[in-house]
Amino acid sequence: MTSCLDNSSIALELNGEQAMIDFGQRLSTIVGRNTDPILVMLSGDLGAGKTTLCRGLLMGLGYKGPVKSPTYTLIEVYDLSLGKVLHADLYRLVDPEELEHMGFADYLEGSKLSLIEWPENGSGYLPKPDIMIKINLSKAGRYVTLASESLCGKSILEEFSSEKSFS
Ligand code: ADP
Ligand code: MG
Repeated sequence: MTSCLDNSSIALELNGEQAMIDFGQRLSTIVGRNTDPILVMLSGDLGAGKTTLCRGLLMGLGYKGPVKSPTYTLIEVYDLSLGKVLHADLYRLVDPEELEHMGFADYLEGSKLSLIEWPENGSGYLPKPDIMIKINLSKAGRYVTLASESLCGKSILEEFSSEKSFS
């Protein structure tokens, strides 16, 4: 079930892990065509499906290996054909200031695509995202909403909602 709320936000219900991965893969084709660096934040409780969605995106961008949740390492960098993809999970970040000490801004700067789980924990030390994704449990699976917070994010979501296969 998909509904387009307005030009720059999308809401859908995805039932089952495979649906989440497929969605990530579809989104990745649009992200991959975009030349700008893109920052995506993923918010939702533990077990919501944030890492699963990141896995779909990475697979769609050509990554063939296992996608580990960077819960303990905080970051994982993938060197893919479109450029570097940063996957961060800030769940265990105690103090957002740690991001400065670990040079997080440099990781962001060097990445074509950055995916950040638990961005709330880095509040005040992270730039504005292009796309904010929120995942909530639904009866049969997950509700996923995507909202753009930049022109680049907006154009990605518009392109996504205009795709025939997703209407
Ligand atoms: P998070 O990173 O948000 O903590 P995970 O991506 O690790 O969550 O997913 C937790 C569980 O949710 C996994 O078992 C995964 O298979 C399941 N899951 C992910 N997306 C969906 C979905 N759309 N519907 C049902 N289960 C899902
Ligand atoms: Mg996770």
